[in-house]
Amino acid sequence: LINLTASTICHTSHRKSNIAMADQRKVGVLGGGQLGRMLIEAANRLNIQVNVLDAANSPAKQISAHDGHIEGSFKDAAKVKELAQKCDVVTVEIEHVDTQMLEEVAGQVTVEPSWKTLRTIKDKYAQKQHLKQYGVDVAESIDLEGKGAEGLKEVGTEYGYPYMLKSKTEAYDGKGNFVVKSEGDIDAAIKALGGRPLYAEKWADFSMELAVMVVKTKDGVLSFPTVETVHEDSICKLTYTPPRNVSPTTSQRAQDLAKKAIAAFEGKGVFGVEMFLLKDDSLLINEIAPRPHNSGHYTIEACPISQYDAHLRAILDIPIKPYQLRLKEPAIMLNILGASTPDSDKKVAQFALENSDASIHLYGKGDSRPGRKMGHLTITRPTLREAVQAIQPLVDFVDEQKG
Ligand code: ATP
Ligand code: MG
Ligand code: MG
Repeated sequence: LINLTASTICHTSHRKSNIAMADQRKVGVLGGGQLGRMLIEAANRLNIQVNVLDAANSPAKQISAHDGHIEGSFKDAAKVKELAQKCDVVTVEIEHVDTQMLEEVAGQVTVEPSWKTLRTIKDKYAQKQHLKQYGVDVAESIDLEGKGAEGLKEVGTEYGYPYMLKSKTEAYDGKGNFVVKSEGDIDAAIKALGGRPLYAEKWADFSMELAVMVVKTKDGVLSFPTVETVHEDSICKLTYTPPRNVSPTTSQRAQDLAKKAIAAFEGKGVFGVEMFLLKDDSLLINEIAPRPHNSGHYTIEACPISQYDAHLRAILDIPIKPYQLRLKEPAIMLNILGASTPDSDKKVAQFALENSDASIHLYGKGDSRPGRKMGHLTITRPTLREAVQAIQPLVDFVDEQKG
C-alpha cells in the first residue's frame, strides 16, 4: 500500500511539473480575431497566458483579462517588438504580418512557425513556387508583376479562359481574386485588382474542394482528417468531415499531400492546407495558411483535441499523439456570415439555439457586414447522413437571411 501511494504521488508531481512548465511560458499572438479568440479558449483551459497584439476589445481580448496584451497593429514593427519582449513564444493568427520585425526578434524569442515560412506563405505566388520546388502539386501559375494588360492577354493565350487573376498578398475570402472569363474582362480585372501585386492561375476544374489541418511538431508532421469545404462567393460556407462521397483512399491521399506540403516549411504549429480534387481524381494544392483555419473549426467538437489545442501544444512542445487528431464523430460546420441586415447573424444564432443542438460560436465582432465571418456552428452525429439532416434547417435559415 505504501509503495502504491508513493508511486501515485511521484506520478502526479511529474505530470504537474510538465504543465507548470507550459503554464509559465507566455505565448504572444499577432492578431486578435476569431482564430486568436479560439486559441485563447484552448490556452485558458491549460492556464497558459496569451498576450494579444491587436486593437482594444478585439474578439480575442474580450475573453482574456490580464495586463499582458498590447494595443496596436500586428503590422506595426515597434508593436511586434514590444510583444516579443513580453513573451517566450510568438505566433500568428493571420499571415499578413511584419515578417521583417519577426526576423529581427527571432534571436530573442521563439517565433513559430518560422518567420521564413510566414514570409514565403504570405505571398501566394512565392508560396506556390516554393511548393513546386519541393515537388508538391500546385495549381499552375504565371507571375504578372509589372506586366499590365498585355501580360493578362498572354495568360489567356497560354491557359485559355476562364483563368483566375490573384493578388499575391493581403488576400482573404476571395478578396484579391478575379475570374477572367474572356479577353473582354481584362480591363475590369485590372480595374478591380490593379495596384496590387498580381499573378494568374490556371483554372482548376474541380469536382470538390478539400482541406486538411496539418500539425508540425518538433518530432514530425501529423494531420487531422480530410474535410470537404464548400465555398459560396469565394467564402467558405460549410465543411463536411468526412467529405461526402469521397473514398477513404482519396481522403488518405489528401492527407499525404497536405503533410508533404507542410514538411517543406520550417517551424512548428498548425497549418490549413486547401486543395482541389479535380475531375480526374488528382489533387492540387490551392493554398496554405500558416495558422489555425476556418476548415479546422470542426475539430473543437469532433476530435479529442482541437486545432487550437494542437497549435498550442506544437509551439510549446507539449506532446501530441496521432490518435488525438482522429475524428470521434462526423461533423458539419456552418459559418455564420453577415448578410443583408445588420442583425441577420444574431437571428441565425437565435434560431440555432432554439431549434438545434449545434455548438454555437459567436466571435464578438461588432459590425455585421455582408460576407463578414461573425460566428460558426457545428453539428456532430454518429453518421454524416444524420448530420446532414440535422443541419439542413439551419442551412435553409441562413439562405433565407441572404434576402
Ligand atoms: P481564403 O479566405 O481561403 O484565404 P483567398 O482569398 O486566399 O481565400 P483562394 O483560396 O485563392 O482565395 O480562392 C478562393 C476560392 O476561389 C477557392 O476556395 C476556390 O473556390 C476558388 N478558386 C481559387 N483559385 C482557383 C482556381 N485556380 N481555379 C478555380 N477556382 C479557384
Ligand atoms: Mg488565402
Ligand atoms: Mg483560400
